[in-house]
Amino acid sequence: MTSLQTLVESSLKTDSASYRETVKAGDYWIHEIGAGQVMRIVDLEGNQAVDTLFYSAADTSERYSAIDTISRQGDIYLTTGSILRTNLGRPMLTITADTCGRHDTLGGACATESNQVRYAIEKRHMHACRRSFLLAVADPKWNLSKRDLAPNINFFMNVPVTPEGRLTFEDGISEAGKYVEMRAEMDVICVISNCPQLNNPCNAYNPTPIQVVIWPSTAR
Ligand SMILES: [Zn+2]
Repeated sequence: MTSLQTLVESSLKTDSASYRETVKAGDYWIHEIGAGQVMRIVDLEGNQAVDTLFYSAADTSERYSAIDTISRQGDIYLTTGSILRTNLGRPMLTITADTCGRHDTLGGACATESNQVRYAIEKRHMHACRRSFLLAVADPKWNLSKRDLAPNINFFMNVPVTPEGRLTFEDGISEAGKYVEMRAEMDVICVISNCPQLNNPCNAYNPTPIQVVIWPSTAR
């Protein structure tokens, strides 16, 4: 079991970052992060769900695995100390700082189909994370396709499991400026859908921008 510690601040300063990008509300982002580099995701305005997938850049058939991550750490939530593992059980990234304190591994990504089933038939046309993931992986340079989409992490999203084992989508516990930071343990491709969902409280019914910051491997 990994020992997890919530609410740990980072010592990294944004002046020493090598990359900074704002991802607009409802938009997607795809980028390679080299082994040893550190990535921070900032919830700029608070209560924003950030649906995220990771793949090994060397072989994209090796990807983030919720099951391997959860079973090895013995905890369903992610926070500082969590090691994100691949479907081969290998460490992919380690969460090194987290000022939010809880991130979801179980809720999955919203899709036009699930919007229709959960909310209303008229919601089908609404933009959803699965669409954003598909747009992100459409460029052949990433060597990814529709069949590579797997259960994702929802950073900043609050999906508590009740004592009866039920999943509930609750109001976020994140606030403006909260962040989560992780060090890549291998070269990874990161795919983010900055969730456009308007029908449940995961974005406080108001999707907002996030910021992604990357530091070179020498920053630590
Ligand atoms: Zn979504």
